[in-house]
Amino acid sequence: MSEDTDHTTPSPVINDLDSSTSSVSFEADELLQAFSGERFGEWYRERKYRQNIENGTPYFNGSTSISDPERHTPSQLLQCHRKIFYQRLKAPQEKPDPSGIFWFGSQFEEEFMMPYLRDIASQEDAYVSNSLWVDYTIDTDAGEIQIKGETDPAIVNDDAEPLFLFEIKTKRTIEGVTEPNRHHIAQVHAYMVGLSKKYEIAIDQAVIVYGSRTNLSIKSFIIDFDTEFWEEVVLNWAKTHTEYRLQDELPPSSPEYGWECQFCSYQERCGKGSKEYKNSGSAGLLPSYSGYPREKLVLYLKSNPDSKLTPTLAWKFPNLAEKYGVYDWSCSRCRKMYTWKEIDPRQKNGRRPTCPECSFVGPPGQLAGPSTAEQ
Ligand code: SF4
Ligand SMILES: [Zn+2]
Repeated sequence: MSEDTDHTTPSPVINDLDSSTSSVSFEADELLQAFSGERFGEWYRERKYRQNIENGTPYFNGSTSISDPERHTPSQLLQCHRKIFYQRLKAPQEKPDPSGIFWFGSQFEEEFMMPYLRDIASQEDAYVSNSLWVDYTIDTDAGEIQIKGETDPAIVNDDAEPLFLFEIKTKRTIEGVTEPNRHHIAQVHAYMVGLSKKYEIAIDQAVIVYGSRTNLSIKSFIIDFDTEFWEEVVLNWAKTHTEYRLQDELPPSSPEYGWECQFCSYQERCGKGSKEYKNSGSAGLLPSYSGYPREKLVLYLKSNPDSKLTPTLAWKFPNLAEKYGVYDWSCSRCRKMYTWKEIDPRQKNGRRPTCPECSFVGPPGQLAGPSTAEQ
């Protein structure tokens, strides 16, 4: 195209910035409302949900099926048994997903690590595969256990057989990271075993890469396969976990690492939170707890078609009440029951509402939905 200006083209009309002459007008209040954390959160979650369906990966929206006691996922190995027990039995989660961390992790892998690995691989006439599946069984004295999962990128040969395996993690900062996390080492061990079986070659090394979300720098560690660690520590953990599941026994509240409780989505049900609950089983909503994020609540209700909302949650999410049903309030003292609509708990600043029936004789009974065991 010539650089000469075409004087016959009409000049574009530029809108006057004076809002009185513009057909578009935003009220500051409306804009502020649109930019509320809640509205943005809903929009983001809805968009992600739709994208997962469009991309053929609806399982990223959360699975509603309970996984077999014998089955283990490499990324869950060697963590707090109780947390993984709750997670695999679909106990209702108390925190939203750390979406920002997930988003950054996948961007970091796609935008930086994949192109970088491709450049490295091409120097040796090798290729990069986004991920490889492993699915294998191992005999233990608790019976056969299954390990199934998907690796991060791997450098592969032109027959698509793995040559080198990578596990990419991001952290807020990598300053002070001097060694890889033990459960990440367990995770790559599970992949090394799976890939060695699948391709009938010895994969005995992997690289764990930590990327910094603060300054995009990386730190890497080569992990050599350690038979003793695999058999004595990792398989032992998997075997013990399968036993908890088979015996339907709630594991003790003993996290494997100091940081686990702080990020755990079952703090209240476990007893490490600020409310009165402890050692709750995996089923049921905590009777007066209102902190469940909406999407986690819906996932729980879909996973447990016989369950209903507690009255506390029905007042917080009235539009879910009709669809899923609501348990009644019950008085801790006189046992009188009330429908959820009869008692509005919202004036109580988080305290339980009291029973109108017995509130004039001695200390009144408190109202709550049924206990987790009763649900
Ligand atoms: S709060 Fe701590 S001990 Fe309890 S399940 Fe979570 S990680 Fe485990
Ligand atoms: Zn009462």
